[in-house]
Amino acid sequence: MPQSLTHTQLVELADRFGTPLYVYHAEKIKEQYEKLTEGFSSLDSRFFFACKALTNINILKYIHSLGCGIDCSSINEVKLALHAGIPEEKILYTSNGISFAEIEEAVQSGVHINIDSLSNLEKFGKKYGNTYPVGVRLRPNILAGGNLKISTGHEKSKFGIPIDQLDLLKGIVAENSIRIKTLHIHTGSDIKDADVFVHGIKVLSELVSHFPDLEVIDLGGGFKVPYEPEDEETDIAFIADKLKKYLETHLFNKGRTFQLWFEPGKYLVSECGYLITQVNVLKDNGVQIFAGINSGLNHLIRPMMYDAYHHIVNLSNPHAEEKVYTVTGYICETDTFATDRLLHEVREGDYLVLYNAGAYGFEMSSNYNSRYKPAEVLVKEGDAFLIRRRDEFEDLLKNQITVV
Ligand SMILES: *Cc1c(COP(=O)(O)O)cnc(C)c1O
Repeated sequence: MPQSLTHTQLVELADRFGTPLYVYHAEKIKEQYEKLTEGFSSLDSRFFFACKALTNINILKYIHSLGCGIDCSSINEVKLALHAGIPEEKILYTSNGISFAEIEEAVQSGVHINIDSLSNLEKFGKKYGNTYPVGVRLRPNILAGGNLKISTGHEKSKFGIPIDQLDLLKGIVAENSIRIKTLHIHTGSDIKDADVFVHGIKVLSELVSHFPDLEVIDLGGGFKVPYEPEDEETDIAFIADKLKKYLETHLFNKGRTFQLWFEPGKYLVSECGYLITQVNVLKDNGVQIFAGINSGLNHLIRPMMYDAYHHIVNLSNPHAEEKVYTVTGYICETDTFATDRLLHEVREGDYLVLYNAGAYGFEMSSNYNSRYKPAEVLVKEGDAFLIRRRDEFEDLLKNQITVV
């Protein structure tokens, strides 16, 4: 039975905490984590939640309590994870374009690190030599993922060390006796196809012989989740099975085995999240009816940034006839959440919920137009907890210094 919150529960939460409101459902995260661990149970695998998707420390703690590690994209995410009580051996810092100072700080905290440039690897080697086993993030030249904006492994991508620079990489490793313990690739997001991961393994399998200290193959994240009602779920067990077959014949057949690491973001937290909003104004221009809600790209930027689809339901008028609406925000930009969408008749004041709002929702929010960021609520074992209060006017002034 898939875990989800009912319309009635969502209405109660909106009444109680106000809107706009982000709601996360703990049991859904657990369900997703279990699909991963069960799917991959026949392989020695570990999962690190790519926390850039959602960093509320209650979420970090909850996910860690399930047995999952945390993957970070900045030193501040590492600090948040440590602050949440997560031990350093369960924290991974997969860097991208960062200063060497951040890597030094990560070394001080003792977390796992994947380095993504030859320049930083060289500085790392000069400073730490063979004393701190480290991973390298490679760019495998694979085009994968839902669209180019979320694809990171192709040959024009900024991410990782291009595999065609293997000789330079080996040179730096040898010169500084660096112990490479992990080879990492992350090809993109919204991947539902086992072949992408198999292809990744294929690329890596040609490299492993160059790295005698290797213990881990890290395949990144990117597992797709269903967005539209007719979307299918990614079949994790199928992907695991294909990977296993390939690993056994190509990688584990020379007496060496490696642990497999994954960094799921969206897969763990997309579906657990709901953004509940309220309709401010209806505007019928004769061609289109706009439902203008009390939110905008300041709260959920994915539709505008990636053309992402978010399913929308009118919680307040469930038995009414369906009509076509264009759902827009209140920001002075074109912030369209959905164009020509069928919704049960919408009235001003109705609650509209946007689904799949857990990943890259609140996390990408801002105070643009001097609007407040929404509150966040965690529903766990049937109880609802406020885990971040809504901004107040003071928050807008917090770091400003009056000099005029
Ligand atoms: C963003 C990111 C992920 C997570 O991607 P999802 O599509 O959310 O699963 C994993 N690893 C790295 C290095 C990332 O940058």
